[in-house]
Amino acid sequence: MGESCPICAKHRGLGPLVGPVIFAGELVVVSHRPLTEGAPIPGYLFVETRRHAPTLADLTGAEAAAVGGAAARAAYALRSELEPEFVFSAITGRSVPHFHQHVFARPAGTPATIPWYDVGSWEDGPRVNDSSLAALCARLATHFEQPWPG
Ligand SMILES: [Zn+2]
Repeated sequence: MGESCPICAKHRGLGPLVGPVIFAGELVVVSHRPLTEGAPIPGYLFVETRRHAPTLADLTGAEAAAVGGAAARAAYALRSELEPEFVFSAITGRSVPHFHQHVFARPAGTPATIPWYDVGSWEDGPRVNDSSLAALCARLATHFEQPWPG
């Protein structure tokens, strides 16, 4: 499926899903959602397996460990850099059958009426542009280079 998969294409630097890469490991890649997908909100990350593994149930033990570590580190980085109300994470995979885990910040002050899974629907919420996104991703990347806290 690699040839037609949009996430495999993304990992080759092709297609509409390409976004700033925050961490590129042997087994997993962490990137920020591109500004062309959904609302341009800061702190919406994806943890993806390099291998075309369709679902969570298809991961190898090494991939599962790498995904878990990367998701935890992504959440820590978002909390440190954005001071959000909360960092959510979800695995759905209903649209693209290549494992990807969403890790995203709910900005401080988000109205209670905004669903947890749709933080971009807060019209007065924070937004990023190309330059502020690049700066944010550079700061987020530093957390993947540091030893684990605690
Ligand atoms: Zn794929």
